[in-house]
Amino acid sequence: MVRDLFNSASRPKELAALWQVKFGKAAVKATDNPLEELALSLSDRDFCYAALNKVSRSFAVVIQQLPEELRDPVCIFYLILRGLDSVEDDADVPVEQKLELLRSFDSLCTQDDFHLHNVGDSHDYRVLLNHFHKVSRVLNHLEPGYKNTILDICREMGEGMACFTERKVNSIRDYDLYCYYVAGLVGIGLSGLFSASGHELPQLRDQKKISNSMGLFLQKTNITRDYLEDLHSSRLFWPSEIWSQYTDEIGQFALRPEHPDSLAALNHMVTDALRHVPDCFTYMKTLRNSDVFRFCAIPQIMAMGTLSLVYDNPDVFRGVVKLRKGLTARIMVETRNMEDIFLYFKQFLKDIARKARPADPSYAVTMQRLKDIELAMEGLVLFPHKNEHATLVHTLL
Ligand code: MG
Repeated sequence: MVRDLFNSASRPKELAALWQVKFGKAAVKATDNPLEELALSLSDRDFCYAALNKVSRSFAVVIQQLPEELRDPVCIFYLILRGLDSVEDDADVPVEQKLELLRSFDSLCTQDDFHLHNVGDSHDYRVLLNHFHKVSRVLNHLEPGYKNTILDICREMGEGMACFTERKVNSIRDYDLYCYYVAGLVGIGLSGLFSASGHELPQLRDQKKISNSMGLFLQKTNITRDYLEDLHSSRLFWPSEIWSQYTDEIGQFALRPEHPDSLAALNHMVTDALRHVPDCFTYMKTLRNSDVFRFCAIPQIMAMGTLSLVYDNPDVFRGVVKLRKGLTARIMVETRNMEDIFLYFKQFLKDIARKARPADPSYAVTMQRLKDIELAMEGLVLFPHKNEHATLVHTLL
């Protein structure tokens, strides 16, 4: 906290936001007790929230902003997919066992005593999977509308992860498909949960293309930013169709971060991610409930901020590039409507345009994507209802 305050020292709005996030109404209390201890003392539901808090502090904070009745379903949805992902990521599980687990995870989750020993790619994930029956039991008490949505997504995601266990991400099509399985389906599942709650229109669950884009934009941002971490764990998802244009061996970028080829590959990855932004605007514009809106919008703004930071930045090949906590806090506190989203996006797009160099091989496409996003914003500002109407009509057809 002290370092975060220091980093934002010359930015009073960030300081105020940091304070609000840390100590305000939405603050989530951190506990130092180990998760295995909490598993013994807490009820199933309280354990789920404690586990969520351990495995993703930021998601635990955002979830508090959702309408009350959506919190449990979204918390359980997140934990189940985290459990599945942890099976996918554990390099020590033999392939046969992994494929079997990924393909049956949804039906295992319906059993009240389901848990896994010694599976998971970090200590907290291992504890979570070891006590997964607590998650299953809360899942099994959810209303069928929520429960079925969660299980349908889990089934399709497990199947997709199993496919990609034995298949590489080569083409951009593969990349889109892999991201659909691990993130696009999260967007589609959340739309299903929002519709089931009655807080959003029933048609939202059918908006698969734009729901998918919401997930793809976040996932591609992470995949691009996490180059070095993923390289070290031999789980890199940059498609060879992109990186092979700049090197014969993807690990080379880490050896020469400042080299124009390394930066060209990075900028190509950022440019590819920008493709999904107009769909994300359409999605967020469709939302009715202000809490659901904030829950969806905050991660999108943070992703755009991260992409602008990552663009043409050799530090991606040296370590972790992250938004200042103060800026993250400000985004959390200040995001209310489409205009707020546009304000942040405009700033971040300007940052990319400022760094873009005509010598970069993707320059023309990058600039075109920035223009497309600009146009999408103008369209929504000038004809806000036209777009909404078009979306609705499209849905009803
Ligand atoms: Mg994974």
